[in-house]
Amino acid sequence: MSGKSHEVIVIGAGAAGATVANLLAAEGRDVLLLERAHGEAPHLPETSYGLRRELLCRLGVEAQVEQVLEPPPPVRLLSVATGASCELRVDPGRTEDLQGRSLNRTGFDALLREAARSRGAALRTCSEVRAPLLEEGRVVGVRYESEGRAIKLQARVVVDASGKSALLGHALGLRQPLRKLDPRRAVFSHFQGAAMEALTEAAPMTLALIEGGYILVARMPGGRVSVVAVLGERAAASFGESHESVFLGAVLQWGALRAAVERSRQVLPFLPVMNQAFESTRAAGEGYVLVGEAAFFCDPFFSGGVSLAMDGAELAAGLVSRLLEGGGRPESLYAEYEARLRVLVRRREQEPRDWLDASSLSALAVAGADPHLPWSTSRLLLGALAGAGALPGAANRTDALSAASRKAFSEV
Ligand SMILES: Cc1cc2nc3c(=O)[nH]c(=O)nc-3n(C[C@H](O)[C@H](O)[C@H](O)COP(=O)(O)OP(=O)(O)OC[C@H]3O[C@@H](n4cnc5c(N)ncnc54)[C@H](O)[C@@H]3O)c2cc1C
Repeated sequence: MSGKSHEVIVIGAGAAGATVANLLAAEGRDVLLLERAHGEAPHLPETSYGLRRELLCRLGVEAQVEQVLEPPPPVRLLSVATGASCELRVDPGRTEDLQGRSLNRTGFDALLREAARSRGAALRTCSEVRAPLLEEGRVVGVRYESEGRAIKLQARVVVDASGKSALLGHALGLRQPLRKLDPRRAVFSHFQGAAMEALTEAAPMTLALIEGGYILVARMPGGRVSVVAVLGERAAASFGESHESVFLGAVLQWGALRAAVERSRQVLPFLPVMNQAFESTRAAGEGYVLVGEAAFFCDPFFSGGVSLAMDGAELAAGLVSRLLEGGGRPESLYAEYEARLRVLVRRREQEPRDWLDASSLSALAVAGADPHLPWSTSRLLLGALAGAGALPGAANRTDALSAASRKAFSEV
């Protein structure tokens, strides 16, 4: 076999991949991190939930993390049918607290990658891994493409941190589909141009209730605006099968958005939001370790997804270290890693639910301002917020919003 050899190759430089690479490079391991994206990929802002200072310290990013944390942005809640609207403003809380703040994912990923590099990991961007290299069932490296060239590299351990792509899970037949996540269809795209900027100038994030669902419009770094249309299955089917027809069926209901979309440049195809959880039948085996969403995918907008990926990566780094040292029976080490990863996944899945269960109305207002929650929590949340008059400064509009929210969610 041709190609240079490394101790560890990590596929994907997201939250999980950059964390594994950092921790192993800090131990003096020879680590290569391969990332398919060209530079900083634009991301919607996310919510920091479950980030641990101790881990951020280990990674050497604790001092800089404040630069990528912001107070949660205000969210405009709008009923397209009645024109009623109000703004959710969220108390940013204590500034020393890492939780519940808006996380600039583009900046955070760049910070984690840079920290991994400064610890000695080599990073190659524009490098898309296509397949593992196998020898007698063992993963011994990867084949990747960079600038039109196909390159083979060997490694003692390959860590798959490729997120939902689950590259090794697919290639090794480990990926097992689980439950469908939600009785809705969601399709998104990105747009650029003055019309979209004007639409989002007053409110960087709008949740617009439409017939049979809602639309989320959110500003992103790099002058992009993300538009996500979420419809109950019946409403979605009435617009047709294709992603485009579902998206346009929703957007056409809101005149101002329709006009802005028509005058803007679409910079991403119409893409479906993944609506099926999956897990891997094994999280580690001969020559490979899976981590982050490449190992378990439980919710497209999971609000603890970043911290879960990073905590899992800490476990994965420990496993790889022990495998490289040759300490312990590999099968026992794989089983121990998988068991600890499962405990982490279940705990992290439960934490946001416990928090919601124990929430006061003001905490629910914080939740309502979180763009992924309308997908993953009870559909009653928005109705309850609107109906209970919990929306600050909106007392005279809550009836209209509440009625619109009941209609929007009546199907699902
Ligand atoms: C709209 C939305 C909102 C969300 N909101 C939140 C939130 O508020 N809080 C939260 O904690 N989580 C949130 N999440 C979940 C969070 O984004 C994920 O759980 C987290 O990013 C998973 O980290 P990861 O490292 O496993 O994967 P990713 O961050 O997806 O990283 C995977 C990396 O691998 C690269 N890659 C993929 N395939 C290849 C390949 N073949 N070769 C080389 N590189 C490859 C990708 O380019 C990417 O950089 C949200 C997700 C979405 C979609």
